[in-house]
Amino acid sequence: MSQYHPFTPQDAIELAKTLPGTFAADANLECREIGDGNLNLVFHITDQNSDKSIIIKQALPYAKVVGESWPLSLVRARIEREILQEEYRLCPGMVPEVYHYDDDLALTVMEDLSDHVIMRKGLIDGGTYPLFAQHIGEFMARTLFFTSDLGMNQQLKKEKQGRFVNPDQCKITEDLIFDEPYRIAEKNNYEAAIEDEAEALRTDGELHLEVALLREKFLTHGQALLHGDLHTGSIFVTAESTKVIDPEFAYFGPMGFDVGAVLANLLLHYASLPGRIQDQTALHERETILLDMVRDVWTEFESRFRSLWASDLVDPMAKAPGYEDLYVQQLFRDSAGFAGAKMVRRIVGLAHVADIDTIEDATQRERAQRKALAIGKALIKRNRNLNTIGELLDTVDTAV
Ligand code: ADP
Ligand code: MG
Ligand code: MG
Ligand code: MG
Repeated sequence: MSQYHPFTPQDAIELAKTLPGTFAADANLECREIGDGNLNLVFHITDQNSDKSIIIKQALPYAKVVGESWPLSLVRARIEREILQEEYRLCPGMVPEVYHYDDDLALTVMEDLSDHVIMRKGLIDGGTYPLFAQHIGEFMARTLFFTSDLGMNQQLKKEKQGRFVNPDQCKITEDLIFDEPYRIAEKNNYEAAIEDEAEALRTDGELHLEVALLREKFLTHGQALLHGDLHTGSIFVTAESTKVIDPEFAYFGPMGFDVGAVLANLLLHYASLPGRIQDQTALHERETILLDMVRDVWTEFESRFRSLWASDLVDPMAKAPGYEDLYVQQLFRDSAGFAGAKMVRRIVGLAHVADIDTIEDATQRERAQRKALAIGKALIKRNRNLNTIGELLDTVDTAV
């Protein structure tokens, strides 16, 4: 048993040397801390004598938030490590392999994915990822289906739920996504230019009703084991490959929360495009690529989810005529609503997205913020009436 203490790069090297079968005895190890250090430390360790490298991620017992410290349980490191192992089993090659862990030190030693790029950065740099929708559709279909009552034994699921009780991380989501953007709160974070939008969010009763319903679903609906933070900053990509990282917000919640996270972050990037691309033809092409990705993510997810329903259903009552269609319809509506809530919070709440924040021109940035809010609010307000991805895209199109 090791007593918890935050690692220095030297500590990380010392640990790496003791890992069986990892580095040669004469390895010349170098270590850099590459995380942003707000919640976790991420050490990148390379052997200068070979091409071997590993990542060590260690949780910190607090989050640094606007100059203060917010205590966070270290349990999330064990949860992140266990769900990574679970996801690796369900979707081999789609998450980093866990090589070693120490739950007392709240750390996981894992595969180095530095040959991939974080998708948010890749999109900002104009990358295209033609296989992304298929890959993430497969990832979400398999991880959500096989951890739900559709695809796993219901008693085992209840036992597993006990291992993924993650109240500190859930509270972050409950506060930052489903509460603070809709009232005056210290952690809210938006530019003075959109005070009118922030005020409108605080006084829109129709919007508040829908957010309350989404919040209730997040609080109470233990449908499947979620990644819980599936934005484009938690996804590594190349043209051929997709790998999901950072599931420290994992818990049993509503499936649409993960699907909505992917949709929201593609739409946030979409809203940023007029601020990034001047040439109108190029802009239109890029916008089409992003909206096609939104369509394809849902379509690929739905078709894989339905084929698992056909092949791997464990609940006989779920074969009731019409049940599958109603289930998928509700999941789609939840995804749309959660996507909207995630868009809104990224504009007025504590944590923003680089896609929009790095637009240099203030007027263009403001336009992107207003566009993202308009889309987000429309998705929240209409979520319970949406039936098809075409209707979702029409909602995006007519929101601004
Ligand atoms: P946090 O929970 O603090 O956001 P992440 O797991 O997202 O931590 O990691 C932060 C950053 O560290 C990532 O954006 C990525 O640049 C790097 N990183 C994390 N895991 C890996 C990995 N397995 N391989 C390579 N880089 C990684
Ligand atoms: Mg981070
Ligand atoms: Mg994280
Ligand atoms: Mg992260």
